[in-house]
Amino acid sequence: MENIGRNLEIINENIGEAAYKSGRERSDITLIGVTKTVDVQRINHLVSLGVTNLGENRVQELMGKYERVNGCNWHLIGNLQKNKVKYIIDKVSLIQSADSFALAQCINNEAAKKNVVADILLEINIANEVTKHGITPTECLGLARNLEGFGNIRLRGLMTVAPFVENGEENRDFFKKMFDLYVDIRAKIVNNKHISVLSMGMTGDYAQAIEEGANMVRVGTGIFGRREL
Ligand SMILES: *Cc1c(COP(=O)(O)O)cnc(C)c1O
Repeated sequence: MENIGRNLEIINENIGEAAYKSGRERSDITLIGVTKTVDVQRINHLVSLGVTNLGENRVQELMGKYERVNGCNWHLIGNLQKNKVKYIIDKVSLIQSADSFALAQCINNEAAKKNVVADILLEINIANEVTKHGITPTECLGLARNLEGFGNIRLRGLMTVAPFVENGEENRDFFKKMFDLYVDIRAKIVNNKHISVLSMGMTGDYAQAIEEGANMVRVGTGIFGRREL
């Protein structure tokens, strides 16, 4: 528990420094505490320290924690299957991993049933890794335009999971590409006033991601320590 507080202090400091380098402030960056495999007690401790945006990558795990953690917003950050959308549609504040028209269609339908508007990010496979989900940068504008017809989806921005690297500097060019894509999408989508989120950067590379324009970072290991499997 003590570690969580100390780790968080360091991360907040690093975020502030990276934000400053890119002409912004700590308050311009949203930290998502990634809580996969972390127990509810430690998650509640993190929330008590002021981290109120939490990310889970599995629907089932999120559902199990949902009732037992209060005062937070949940983000779905992992691959989402169409048949599971109905379980989370009115529980999460942002679906960060939308990566196909069929999934978007399903999100729109389930959101309509519950009479909510679903905020989503499009997940981009920026390094074109076979092991990763997400659409290619080339597909992004087409899919973003197709979403404009959906009454129960609000496109909020883009997300990526960059390659796992030892040194975050190795991902800097991918982050630059993501920022360019984000600017481009915002310029080309007519109804763009809600497009304001660029989610990229994890424990190993969040500083570089922020320096290149991220305004949302997702950190797990850096807060809670290494995950036991
Ligand atoms: C696990 C995970 C993270 C956090 O990764 P860390 O390296 O532990 O900070 C961020 N984003 C996604 C999509 C994840 O699955």
